[in-house]
Amino acid sequence: MGQSFVIACTECDYKKELMLGIGMMYSPANVEGFDSEFTILPSLIKSKKTLELVKCLLNEKQGRFADNYGHALYHCSKCGEFYERFFYHIDHESGSFEPTFKCPKCRVVMIKFEADEDDEKNIDLSRYPCPKCGRNGLIQDVNSMVCWD
Ligand SMILES: [Zn+2]
Ligand SMILES: [Zn+2]
Repeated sequence: MGQSFVIACTECDYKKELMLGIGMMYSPANVEGFDSEFTILPSLIKSKKTLELVKCLLNEKQGRFADNYGHALYHCSKCGEFYERFFYHIDHESGSFEPTFKCPKCRVVMIKFEADEDDEKNIDLSRYPCPKCGRNGLIQDVNSMVCWD
């Protein structure tokens, strides 16, 4: 089940809601099964080139998704903005593959937030300046969180 993640700034009116985690349709069979009518990969992987590569890894290189796939939180170090992107890790016969995402504004590669091992929901925002006012006022607004699937 997915859950929204709301970032708010205590210093200004910045607020951003992102859908993280996985939905009910995101079973491994639906994610890996390209030829299944329920396949959801084309809607998750927006880049045609990447989609072709993933297809090739799965079909021709014995590629398998690790079970940590899902919508993850990414951060642009240049403009400071936060984005949600579909993260996955594929192990295949000659190595592994993970997607990289560029900030739509700055075109720099964004950094994925690694969830705390002990507490997956706990993402430390205090060390990141607010994308709008630049001050360190970011908090996770737990009161606005909703389940999305
Ligand atoms: Zn940026
Ligand atoms: Zn702010």
